[in-house]
Parts: sequence; C-alpha cells; structure tokens
Amino acid sequence: MQSRLNVHLITHTPDPEKVIAGAAKLCYSPKGIEGTMEQSDVEKNRKFVQMLVNMGHESPLEHISFTFGIEGVSRSLTHQLVRHRIGASYSQKSQRYVEEKSFEYIIPPEIEKRPGAKEKYLEAMEMSGKYYEEITEALYRDYVKQYMEKGESEKNAQKTAKKKAIEDARFVLPNACETKIIVTMNARALLHFFNHRCCNRAQWEIQELAIEMLKQVKQIAPTVFDKGGPKCLENPCPEGSMTCGEITAVRNRFSEL
Ligand SMILES: Cc1cc2nc3c(=O)[nH]c(=O)nc-3n(C[C@H](O)[C@H](O)[C@H](O)COP(=O)(O)OP(=O)(O)OC[C@H]3O[C@@H](n4cnc5c(N)ncnc54)[C@H](O)[C@@H]3O)c2cc1C
Repeated sequence: MQSRLNVHLITHTPDPEKVIAGAAKLCYSPKGIEGTMEQSDVEKNRKFVQMLVNMGHESPLEHISFTFGIEGVSRSLTHQLVRHRIGASYSQKSQRYVEEKSFEYIIPPEIEKRPGAKEKYLEAMEMSGKYYEEITEALYRDYVKQYMEKGESEKNAQKTAKKKAIEDARFVLPNACETKIIVTMNARALLHFFNHRCCNRAQWEIQELAIEMLKQVKQIAPTVFDKGGPKCLENPCPEGSMTCGEITAVRNRFSEL
C-alpha cells in the first residue's frame, strides 16, 4: 500500500528566542543567570538573535531544540537523514521488532507518472512482500521447533522464533519501505540540515521533508530560521558545475515560505 509524507512538530524549547538571547548575553554580562535569562523584551531579544545569526555566532542556537514525528517516508530517506550526526537524535521503527507484513511503501513521483515503470515497481513491491512472508514463515517454523527442542514452552518458542525470523527476512525488503522516525535537532543542526537538504541537489523526498520542517520551525522561531534554506539564498551556489542553475527561482521560492 502506498504511503505519503507526514511531518509533525511534536515539541520544542519554550520561548526559543528568549533562551538563545539569554544564553548569548550571559557570556558578556556581569549579571547572574537569573538576571540574564529574565530579559522579557521580545523585540530586543529578536534583534539580538538576528545579530547573532547574521554574524554567524551560532553556538547559542544549540540551546533550543525541536522534536519532529516523521512518517510516510522511505527507508532510503532515513538512511540519508541519519547521516546528520551532530546535534541530532533519532528513534526509528525497528524492522527487527516490528513485522513488515503487508508493508506500506513510497512511490517516487517520476515512477508514479509513468505507467510502464509504475507497473514494474508495484510488481517488485508485491514480490518483496511475498518473499518476505515466505522466508519469515520458513524460518519461523524451524526456529519454533529448535526452541521447543531446547525445552521452551510453545508460547515462548513462538514469540522468540517470530522475532528471530523477521530480523533476517527483512533483508529482502526494499528501500521504498515506509518507516517512522522521531528526530530531535537543535537549531544550529537544523540550519545546517536545511543548507544541505533544501538544496535542489538533494533528492526529492528528503528535500520535501526538509522544506516542510523549515516551514514549521519558521512559525516558532522566525528570526532564527529567517535565512534557513539552501546555501544559495545568501551566497553564490557552492555546487560549481553541478549547480541546478535555478538560483533565482530557488530564492523566490524560499522568500515565500
Ligand atoms: C546532495 C547530497 C549528496 C550526497 N551524496 C552522498 C554520497 O554519495 N555518499 C555519501 O556517503 N554521502 C552523501 N551525502 C551525505 C553527506 O556526505 C553528509 O554525510 C551528510 O550531508 C551529513 O552532513 P554533515 O556530515 O555535514 O552533517 P553532520 O554529521 O551533522 O556534521 C555537521 C558538521 O560537523 C562537522 N563534523 C561532523 N563530524 C565530523 C568529523 N568526524 N570530523 C570533523 N568534523 C566533523 C562538519 O563540519 C560537519 O559539516 C550527500 C549529501 C547531499 C546533501
């Protein structure tokens, strides 16, 4: 069954711009922590955060974080996502513990719109599902027998056998397989992530995810993420001969987010 992207901002640091401004001011203030963090002038905080962002003083941005629930994405996307190691935490649905019977999958739009390719693709999904179930079943039957011969109760043997069977059967599942992941990133890590994954050179699926995440954090901390997006919003495209060549369209698109 086909599945679609769903991104939900679960939670974030309260008063994010106040936290960043307070943390940054502490570095230069003779006041105690309470005095520095109490700063409640929203406009002053906003201007201060804007100055930090413009100057590239990014370490205070690490004090605020955002937690997203992401589903309806492929394992191929999460493989790319988890390469972002710094300032990021992940918890992903496990294929060792959760059986992928009748798994959902993502269809790339370019395949979706070509009937010949789509037909083959759906066939491949169906075959993966079929072999997954057949391999699971074959392993499961053997393991139940083995565990019972070792003296385990039938119930325990079945439980352990199922887990052991699916952890090897999953090797035949495709990259297209739908997955769910909870991601927490601090604001500095998010800006770095947006630089790379909002770029037209990033693959369509992770690009779609990054743009949706950017839209959501812009609502919460507009000053921090005002310039969030691919590197070419602020500077010439760094991709050299591999540039998408669409810098004006890209800048227009992000100015409207
Ligand atoms: C368009 C595109 C194509 C890609 N193609 C490929 C590919 O073909 N193959 C592939 O393997 N990957 C590929 N990647 C992934 C890419 O190489 C990075 O792994 C990924 O984007 C995460 O970036 P990062 O390491 O900067 O992020 P993070 O891991 O979050 O690191 C953030 C920053 O911290 C610093 N840092 C982190 N770890 C270290 C370290 N060990 N030593 C020193 N400094 C460190 C660096 O400054 C780094 O930029 C691609 C990415 C993009 C956007």
